[in-house]
Amino acid sequence: MTILNSMLKGFLGGIHLSENKFTENLAIEVMPAPKLVYIPLAQHAGKPAKPIVQKDDFVKIGTKIGESEGFISAPVHASISGKVLDIKQHPHPVLASAECCIIESDETEDWAAGMKEKHDYENLPKEELLSIIRDAGIVGLGGAAFPTHVKLSPPPDKPIEYLLINGCECEPRLTADHRLMLEYPIGIIEGAKLFQQILNTKHLIFCIEDNKKEAAKIFISENEEVRVLKTKYPQGAEKQLIKTVLNRTVPRGGLPMDVGCVVQNVGTCYAAFQAVKFRKPLIDRVVTVTGDGVKESKNLLIRIGTSVIDVVNFCGGFVDQPKRIIFGGPMMGISQYAEDVPIIKGTSGILVSKEVSSYEEGPCVRCGCCVDACPMGLMPTEIYKLVKNKKFLKSKDYGVLDCIECGCCAYGCPSKIPLVHYLKYGKNEVWRLSKK
Ligand code: SF4
Ligand code: SF4
Repeated sequence: MTILNSMLKGFLGGIHLSENKFTENLAIEVMPAPKLVYIPLAQHAGKPAKPIVQKDDFVKIGTKIGESEGFISAPVHASISGKVLDIKQHPHPVLASAECCIIESDETEDWAAGMKEKHDYENLPKEELLSIIRDAGIVGLGGAAFPTHVKLSPPPDKPIEYLLINGCECEPRLTADHRLMLEYPIGIIEGAKLFQQILNTKHLIFCIEDNKKEAAKIFISENEEVRVLKTKYPQGAEKQLIKTVLNRTVPRGGLPMDVGCVVQNVGTCYAAFQAVKFRKPLIDRVVTVTGDGVKESKNLLIRIGTSVIDVVNFCGGFVDQPKRIIFGGPMMGISQYAEDVPIIKGTSGILVSKEVSSYEEGPCVRCGCCVDACPMGLMPTEIYKLVKNKKFLKSKDYGVLDCIECGCCAYGCPSKIPLVHYLKYGKNEVWRLSKK
C-alpha cells in the first residue's frame, strides 16, 4: 500500500532547503582499498571497543580488532589485510582525537575465514540473528551510529508495533542512501525483514521522500508498504518521521519504542543483510563525496578507516586549497581539521568547499523565525540567551536537552546567531554539571 504525502499531517516546524543533490545519478563506485587505514575503536554510541590485536600482528579483512565493551558498544573489524603498525591516538571525525588501529596493507585482500560465503539464514532463531548482527559491528548508518543489536532488543514491556525503514536522506547534497535504494533494494528489503522477524513487528513501512520517487517505485513494485513523504528538512529525524507517518509523539526524553516504534536506516538494513547472509562485518559503507572543492563528485563504497585525503585523491584531488571539509551533510555535518581523519561507520558524506562565508553575530531582533522553524517545539531564542549567560540549569528547563541539533533555527536567523553552537554547548554543560 502506498500513501502519498498529501494524506499525511507532517511534523511541526522544519524548513525547505535547496536540495543540491548533484550526485543522485552517479552510480556507486567501489574505491580500491587504500595502503593505510586508521580504524578508530570509538565509532558508535556507547563505550569504545577494546583493542584485541597488538602492534605487528597480521590481520585479514574482517578480523575483529576491537571487542565491544558492554551492552551499548560494538566491535570493530579490519577493513584491509595487512600488518598492525600501531594503536595510538589519531585525528577522529567526531571526537577530535581517539585511539585508532593503524593497519598497513599487504595488498593480498585476503578475508578472514568463513566470510564472503553464503549462509542459509531463513530459519535462524531470533537470538542467533541478533548475535550475528552484534558480532558484525552493525550500527545505525544514518549518522547516529547507535548499536543496532541494542535498538533491536527493546524490553518486554515495550512491544514494537511498527518498524519504519528510513530512506528519507533529508540532508541536502547527500545521495548515498538514494543510490543504495536504487541499486540494492532487495538487500535492503531482506535486511528489513530480518529486523521485523527479530522485533516480531506486525507493520514494516519504507519511508521515502518525494524527491526519490524512482526509489519509492522500486519498493512498491516489490509489494512493500511505502510512505512517500514531503521533502522537508528534517523529515528523516526519528521523532519527526514517526510523527509524520504514524501521528505519534515520542515523549520528551523518550525513545521511539515508547510509542511502539523502531526506526532503522536503509543502509543499516543492507549492512545487516550482508552480515547475516555472508557473515560480512561492517568494513565499508557508501559515502557521497561532493562540493566545489573536489574535482569529481562521486558516490563511493569506501573501506572504514580510509583517510579523507585518500578519498579526495581518488576523486581527482582538491580544486584549489580547500577552505572546509565537512563529514556528513551541510546542516548537521562536522568540520574536520586534519587531512588524515578517517571515514568511520557513521560517515554519510564528505563535503569539500573552496570558499567559506563568515558572518558576524548580530543582536536578536525577536523575529521568532527560529521558534517557527524548530521541529522540536523549542524556543531557541530564549535558550541561546540562557546559555550565553551561563544559566545552564535554567536552559535545561527550557528543553535544551531535547535539541536534535538539526540547525533549522540558525538557518533562517537574520542576525546570523550561531544558535546550534550555543545549544550544543548548553547541552554539554548540562551533562557535565549533572555528572558532577
Ligand atoms: S537545532 Fe535544536 S533548537 Fe535549533 S531548530 Fe533544531 S532542534 Fe530546534
Ligand atoms: S531567528 Fe535569530 S533574531 Fe530571530 S528570534 Fe531567533 S535568535 Fe532572534
